[in-house]
Amino acid sequence: MGGTLRLPGFVNAHSHTFQRALRGSTAGGDFWAWRETMLAEAERQTPDLVRASYEETYREMRHAGYTAVGEFHYLGAPEALAAAEAASAAGIELVLLHVAYARGGLPRFRQDSVAAYLAEVEALRSAGLRVGVAPHSVRACPADWLEQIGRYAEAESLPLHVHADEQPREIEECLGEHGCRPIELLARTGCLTERTTVVHATHADGPELDLLASTGTTICACPTTEADLGDGFLPAERIRTRTIPLSIGSDSNVRIDPFEELRELEGIARRQTGRRSVFSTDELLRFGSAQGADTLGLAAWPEIEIDLGHRSLAGVEHSEVAAALVAGCGADVVLASA
Ligand SMILES: [Zn+2]
Repeated sequence: MGGTLRLPGFVNAHSHTFQRALRGSTAGGDFWAWRETMLAEAERQTPDLVRASYEETYREMRHAGYTAVGEFHYLGAPEALAAAEAASAAGIELVLLHVAYARGGLPRFRQDSVAAYLAEVEALRSAGLRVGVAPHSVRACPADWLEQIGRYAEAESLPLHVHADEQPREIEECLGEHGCRPIELLARTGCLTERTTVVHATHADGPELDLLASTGTTICACPTTEADLGDGFLPAERIRTRTIPLSIGSDSNVRIDPFEELRELEGIARRQTGRRSVFSTDELLRFGSAQGADTLGLAAWPEIEIDLGHRSLAGVEHSEVAAALVAGCGADVVLASA
């Protein structure tokens, strides 16, 4: 079988592109220890370094079939502009999810007030960037910041992305501070809407998933990173039964391969249920493309071409190509774009 197959481009809904540099590092015995290594890498980032290294990684994403990316960005405004230049040079659509960070992390991540944060967002919009708002997490943002950012996103019809329930410790700390779990706090502060995406939701319990379903909030799963960091398993089957929309992200960029993210997602669901084809091929491909675009508020993004003559597809019937892509192919089946 030769020829090519056109598909919607994949959409990488959650990336911290500078973390690509850490893919060979085995440092850090758990998420929290790894985080120290990550913070050291974040600290050395400059606009020049971001401009050069992000272009390289965005080109890798483009070659792997991602034609749009949501950059969850907490390195500062000058670096945000450098990331936008890098994306443009690499030919990938960018939505800059500018992060609000009130406490913890590195001093360079933080804004002095929520008003200062929103002024940064406005400045990036004025500079022509396509943006979304991103309170980093309930660890990094107190309730009054979440309330104001939620109100701003609603008034401006912007996407709102937030990490939640990636690690059990974050849930324990939230219970200690607020007497409720992270997704419950996001609901209480007006942050859950149809334009909101919760990143991870690995340890979300039933009532939290119900809140996502009832508010139209979506989840971005990052299975290769969640595996790499020992986060846990996405509650895939419980998400499916509630019909909460899913998208995918390469997150720490330890791997850049949309097929692998989708295969991991479906693999988790199969292990949890003891069934095959928990999500259909069409559903999985939609999670990897149109749902990601929805999540980022993107109306259009480039298509890709699959090389039907690739050795990974040898002997596969035409009617089974889409399923074989998800089950048995890597990103090298994507033809280089012009
Ligand atoms: Zn993340």
